[in-house]
Amino acid sequence: MPLKQLILNGFKSFADKTTINYDSGITGIVGPNGSGKSNITEAIRWVMGESSAKSLRGAKMKDIIFAGSQSRPPLNKAEVSLVFDNHDRKLNFNNDQVTVTRKILRSGDNEYLINNQSVRLKDIRNLFMDVGLSHDSLAIISQGRVDQILNSQAQERRSIFEEAAGVLHFKQQKETALKQ
Ligand code: ATP
Ligand code: MG
Repeated sequence: MPLKQLILNGFKSFADKTTINYDSGITGIVGPNGSGKSNITEAIRWVMGESSAKSLRGAKMKDIIFAGSQSRPPLNKAEVSLVFDNHDRKLNFNNDQVTVTRKILRSGDNEYLINNQSVRLKDIRNLFMDVGLSHDSLAIISQGRVDQILNSQAQERRSIFEEAAGVLHFKQQKETALKQ
């Protein structure tokens, strides 16, 4: 299920609708400091269900909406979509393409969609968890994360190994079931 496209609209520094196409192989994104490279990976994590504003370098989640610049006013909405090629049916949807979208308004209201159908945040998290991914998955290593892993306590390091071994998903399902 390769990632084919990332579409940003109003997310952080991406005030205008911006589409990034991912071809097969490796995609490198280069640019000067502050040009928005980290914002791109944050947008991906946000769609995958990130709920910590702090881990997206903000105080509140609505801080990810374009805050305005000298030449243009702030926006009221941010929207990001991830488009996956699902010919291999890895994602549990009977479509060749799966588009996952998240929107946020200044009021703080979020909307989640899979192939343009409104869903819950939980559905998005489950969709990715079923293929061993999550917003804080090791598939995405942010700046400073390597140091954090090396300096972590044994318990935290254990969950990193559990995730890599694919058991974290079952552990979380067990914890949810025990609570019910
Ligand atoms: P570096 O090479 O230093 O890691 P980078 O390319 O990763 O830089 P980012 O951290 O992605 O850069 O981008 C930071 C830029 O995004 C800053 O200029 C900041 O002002 C801008 N930015 C962050 N949030 C918003 C927002 N809500 N509205 C407008 N601009 C924003
Ligand atoms: Mg950066």
